[in-house]
Amino acid sequence: MRYAKTDTNPHSEVEYPKQRGTCPCCDSIVIGHNGEFKIKHWQHYKRADCDSWFEPITEWHLSWQNNFPIEYQEVYMENNGKKHRADIKLPNGIVIEIQNSPISPIEIEERENFYGVKNLIWVINGETLCKNSKLNNQFVKKEFSISINIPYSIDENPGYQVDEFMEKILSIPIMKELIHKSCNYEINNGDNISLAFEDYIDINDVKLKMDMLMGHAYIEMYGKQTLPFFKSKNLINTCMVEYDHFIKVNLEKKHWRKFLDMMKYPLFIDNLQGLDSDYIYYYQKAKIISKKIFLKKYKNYCK
Ligand SMILES: [Zn+2]
Repeated sequence: MRYAKTDTNPHSEVEYPKQRGTCPCCDSIVIGHNGEFKIKHWQHYKRADCDSWFEPITEWHLSWQNNFPIEYQEVYMENNGKKHRADIKLPNGIVIEIQNSPISPIEIEERENFYGVKNLIWVINGETLCKNSKLNNQFVKKEFSISINIPYSIDENPGYQVDEFMEKILSIPIMKELIHKSCNYEINNGDNISLAFEDYIDINDVKLKMDMLMGHAYIEMYGKQTLPFFKSKNLINTCMVEYDHFIKVNLEKKHWRKFLDMMKYPLFIDNLQGLDSDYIYYYQKAKIISKKIFLKKYKNYCK
């Protein structure tokens, strides 16, 4: 374990070799190891670790734990008379288990029942646990987007209805085709259509066509008379946005460890072959997530 009670500190790392401390869980004596080649850790003196889920500490563990304030690292939890230390436990009760070595399906179930009271997420080391698997993906930095604003109301045309007109726009074949081609499509507040494309499209051509077709649609529904008022509103915006994005994400499993599929709680894989170290892979959702964003989310709970 990483932290023990000492005379001066209730949550102390080993400061020098053979330092004496007390286990915060079982109160027995623990001895500090601080060798040149070993990561510093406390070991129960002349007895086994009181946490049956004990695992050797690795550098990888430390770096994950260190993302969070010290008081949330190695937190003891008690449940039905049993005690275990969670690698990371946030103030809202979420436990983050940092897993470097294989565990049995039975232990997975036990740990999920024990730690998962509030919520649990697994972060596993792909370097040790998915060594032969590879994550294929293609990174897309740029995206094209089109935003179409439909007037919410037109003073000069009391008969105009935004819902009705939106429906009309969405039924235009070129619009349907655009939606089909887009990688992301949203209708916001009932008066805005946002479309994003990861493949190249001639965005100016689309803009011209949409402009024209929206004019036609308007005339068809409300006549020509108030068209200039409709057109006077700036309707279509196009832009190219910088956006981290992955396509063709596919995990090529080789010698896949079955126990990973027994995990019911969200499983994030770090150090996966084919994936840059700034990202982790959300296994159940087959999504690549920036570590920065991931950590930001969970660090926010520490405030
Ligand atoms: Zn103990």
